[in-house]
Amino acid sequence: MAGKIALLIVDLQEDFLPPNGSLAVANGREIIKPIIDLLMSKKYKWDAVIATKDWHPSDHISFAKTHAAEPYTTKVLSSPDRSGKTKLHTLWPVHCVQNTVGSEFPKEFNDVFEKWLSSQSVPTKIVLKGYLQDREYYSCFEDVWGLHKTECAQYLKDNGITEVVAVGIAYDFCVLNSCIDSAKNGFKTYVIKDFTKSVFPDKDEKTTENYEKHNVTVITSDSEMLKRWQV
Ligand SMILES: [Zn+2]
Repeated sequence: MAGKIALLIVDLQEDFLPPNGSLAVANGREIIKPIIDLLMSKKYKWDAVIATKDWHPSDHISFAKTHAAEPYTTKVLSSPDRSGKTKLHTLWPVHCVQNTVGSEFPKEFNDVFEKWLSSQSVPTKIVLKGYLQDREYYSCFEDVWGLHKTECAQYLKDNGITEVVAVGIAYDFCVLNSCIDSAKNGFKTYVIKDFTKSVFPDKDEKTTENYEKHNVTVITSDSEMLKRWQV
């Protein structure tokens, strides 16, 4: 029996896109049209669609500014549960602050996605992450400490989903960690690599190994797999 398949669109937000994004990923805009094409319901048969948003308060712990530090430097930060655990964090430029232009979906994507949201002919949802000030999130399932779970896994389970297909930004951060957690949650997980972009594209080979090590299947858009998801 065929599984039930969800499309997971990760962090397709203005701050991650050139030319104006504060944390713009090179050529990020190139993937908007192909992702919109995946949403053309006549072509693909999704059983649920989730679009995630990085959604930070203005003083978020992941921002270099919060620590009076330079962006892209690193800092050891402690777990918010005061367990004494620490992790080395990359500090980022201020990005995706709640209700700012930088946190929005690009307009052409939003126009299509809004229709999916309002019709709900297929279960469709926005999942927010990064809204707790005291912790970093890359995955749309949980924070980097594994303490706070978003509603993502429950929503997929409630809709009987067995397979997840991920696209979005960035291949080497939020898409990667979301896919790893998707697989950990028991969903057969795929990433369409050419419908993502990397912060560090020169490290893509290593990043791909990391996906495979965590039981995520990396495919490209010319793969036969895509036909399976078409009507
Ligand atoms: Zn963020």
